[in-house]
Order: sequence, then structure tokens, then C-alpha cells
Amino acid sequence: MTTEETMGLFDKYVIGNYPRLARVIVKGEGCYMFDAEGKKILDMFPGWAVSAIGHCHPKVVEAVREQAGELLHIDNTLYSEPQGKLAKLLSERAFGGKSFFCNSGAEANEAAMKLARLHTSEEKYKFITAEGSFHGRTFATMTATAQPKHHEGLLPLLPGFAYVPFNDVAAMEESFSDEVAAVMVEPIQGEGGINIGTAEYLQAARRLCDENGAVLIFDEVTTGMGRTGKWFAYQHFGVEPDIMTMAKALGGGMAIGAMMATEEVAASLVPGKHASTFGGNAIACAAAIAVIEAIEQEKLLENAVELGKYAQDKLSQLKEKHSAIDHVRGVGLMIGVQLTGPGAEIVDKCMEKGLRINCTQGTVIRFMPPMIAGRAEIDEAVEIFDSVLTESAK
Ligand SMILES: *Cc1c(COP(=O)(O)O)cnc(C)c1O
Repeated sequence: MTTEETMGLFDKYVIGNYPRLARVIVKGEGCYMFDAEGKKILDMFPGWAVSAIGHCHPKVVEAVREQAGELLHIDNTLYSEPQGKLAKLLSERAFGGKSFFCNSGAEANEAAMKLARLHTSEEKYKFITAEGSFHGRTFATMTATAQPKHHEGLLPLLPGFAYVPFNDVAAMEESFSDEVAAVMVEPIQGEGGINIGTAEYLQAARRLCDENGAVLIFDEVTTGMGRTGKWFAYQHFGVEPDIMTMAKALGGGMAIGAMMATEEVAASLVPGKHASTFGGNAIACAAAIAVIEAIEQEKLLENAVELGKYAQDKLSQLKEKHSAIDHVRGVGLMIGVQLTGPGAEIVDKCMEKGLRINCTQGTVIRFMPPMIAGRAEIDEAVEIFDSVLTESAK
């Protein structure tokens, strides 16, 4: 099919809720994707942070192929090996918790919020979330997402949510009461613009939850699975949550989400209270196991630290040449370039030159290189970005 033919199908039969670029992607390989016209594109925002170990990682592809020949799916009233193995691997890499599996980030956050309610006493029904957060598109996670643009046309929202400025300890303290069931926060905000939580703030959230009998939820849907140079971003800040959610990078491209809770909190999720038909299916879990093994065998956490520093330094150097750049911020390979003006056109121009990046909040360019990348790919990306900034300044 030609690009026009595929786009024609979408025009006629697919709901138009995504602004799509006029490009059909037919293949992904490592740091690159290829469109129907054979154009090769360097992907520095692979699958919106899903393909964090690159497109079609061979170990993930192999695990999926092998599992597909044995068992694709079995319902959750029976046991399956991959789900048990994956839960163990995750527990060993986080805080020794137990996992519930689902299929997406929003579902993981839904499960987290339900568990927080179930675990705390009945009068506790409120959630505190941070301005600029992003927690998903279902009704509860949309309500938790403290950005008015995501609420437009959908009022009234669910009751019981308080929004406080990110990194503002006093504001969180003020919004606390006996009625708060949980604080839910991203240690580093992604869609909100690569806003890095301070240790002081995250530790204060921990303390306030403890003092008030509330549950601390970290949304690690974007930050999880090594992108920041540690398995989970909270591990940078010396504070542990009661509940943590994961999704995007977890399945290496397969749809899977997970909510991990401490053993004590997890005990409140008893039969009949929550479920997911597809959650923890064998093939998605097999893929996630392969992701964890690949990250370890290929030392990708170390690479995220080392390459992250390299990339942030190189991008920061562009600041001297381009007044369009205000500053660069990030942790590991989760990088934001704060521009002084709008970034959408820059993203489009980079795509024309074979580089995929992203712009969020109007003025923040997101670089989320796959953890398998090397210096050569960063150099290539920065060169294209540099040339587009030069042209745009004219
Ligand atoms: C993407 C994202 C979600 C939502 O995940 P879906 O899989 O799209 O439902 C939730 N929280 C954060 C931090 C995210 O980045």
C-alpha cells in the first residue's frame, strides 16, 4: 500500500483523536524506524518511551516468538509461569513488593488509586496530585492529571482531588487532612515537561503520608525500567513509595502495565476487588522478562547514566550557539531542552531531516533516546537538531 492509501483508510475508518504525521511506519530496528517510502528515521522518542531498549530488540522478539508457540493467554483464575517470574524480577529490583498486572499506565494508576482507597479507612477518599502531572486518560487518572487542558469538555470530574504545585512542600502540607487516602506523584514529570522532583519534596510526601495514615503512590510509568539510570526514578531520591506503577518500557513494545505494592498494602487487594482480563498474560510477561534480562546483560543502566551525561552535555553546548535554547535538564536519558519559544515547528523540521523528537508543554523538546543507543546516534541527533535550530533562526 502507498502512504496515501493507508492514510485514506485512517481518514475513513479510524477515529481521528490523534494528530498524526503524514508517515506510515513499516519497520523498527534498534534506534531507527523506517517508513513506507523507505526513509530511515533516527528515533529519539521511540514509541513515546515504550521502546526504551530500542525497536524490536532481538531478545524481546525471540521471547515473544517462543512464548507465542506455547501459550498466548490464560485467564487469571489459573497460574502461568511468566507472570510469576516477572513479579519476582520486579520485586527484586524495586522495594520487595508484590505486583498486580494490567495492560497500560492508566490501568496501573487506576489499580493504585483503588488499592489506596481499599487499604485506608473509609473516611479517607481524597487524592493529592501535582500540577503539571500526567497520570492517564481514564476518568480517574484524567481527574488525577492536574492540567486543565485535559479536563476541558469533561466536567464534572471525580470528587476528592486536590492539586498542588509540584515541588512545593508547604502546599502539600496545607492540602493534607484526615480525609486524604493517597498522594500520587511522578518523581520526574514527563508530559509535564521533564520536571525533576526534589529529594526534599518527595521525602516530605513520604513523611506527610506516614503522619496522616495515607498511602504514597509513585507513578513511574515513564521513568521506570532504567531510563533515568536506575531501575526506578525513586531510587535517586532516598524515599520509597507504598505503591508504584509501571507500564511504557516494561514490555519492550508489548502492552503491559503493573502496579507494585508493599506486602502490607498489597494484602488489601483481595479477590473480587479488582481484576483485568488480559492483565499479566503470558506473552506480555515473557516480553517483560526479556526486557529486564536485556537491560542487565547489556549493562543498559550504566549506559543510561554515561550516555545520558554525554547527551545532556552535548545539548547544553548548543545553548552557546542558539538563543532559542534556555537550558537543558534531565536525569539519565530522560532529557528536556527548555526552549525560549515554541518547539512544534522544530520537531516537524527535525522529522523531515530524519530525526524524531517530541515537544511537550509547547516549549520543551523531549529527547528520550533508547538505552541501547551509543555516542554515534547522539552525535547524529544533535547534529540534525543543531542544523534545524540554525535554519529556524534565519
Ligand atoms: C503515559 C503515562 C501514563 C498513561 O499510560 P497509558 O499506557 O497511556 O495509559 C500515566 N502516567 C505517566 C507518567 C505516563 O507517562
